[in-house]
Amino acid sequence: MIQPMQHLWAPWRMAFIKGEKPAGCFFCEAAGADPGDDAAHLVLARTGLSLAILNRYPYNNGHLMVAPVAHLANLEDLPRETASDMATLTQHSLRVLRDVLKPQGFNLGINAGKTAGAGVADHVHQHVVPRWDGDTNFMPVIADTKILSESLATSYQQLRAGFDRMV
Ligand SMILES: [Zn+2]
Repeated sequence: MIQPMQHLWAPWRMAFIKGEKPAGCFFCEAAGADPGDDAAHLVLARTGLSLAILNRYPYNNGHLMVAPVAHLANLEDLPRETASDMATLTQHSLRVLRDVLKPQGFNLGINAGKTAGAGVADHVHQHVVPRWDGDTNFMPVIADTKILSESLATSYQQLRAGFDRMV
């Protein structure tokens, strides 16, 4: 099983952990990490203002999240430039997913607030979930942890290559 927080204890992380960035925010952690470690954080793409991250606990293969670099909880509080950048990166993500994984549809959405199901409620993020006909039937199969983590690594490599190609 992948331990999402294990990299917190890597020596290179200490400066960031002791810095003023809020400890424990997954998105700030990924945004603030060395781009050379993008694979460890499953970061697929970075713009100056937002980033796309593959979900470690996906609803489906290729499930990614687009988040602003800024630690802000509410979509309506994002500066216009940041909101626009996120929208553009979401479009970009859809193109890459369509190109690489050939889904037949997508679910896009933001869970705003814990009550609405947000896992990380204080840093807004847009979910992008690719869908295939019949995928609700095979989810229990890929829910197996070992298969899922192997599938994650493969998906990351394929999608990262897709993003890099399209830039
Ligand atoms: Zn944050």
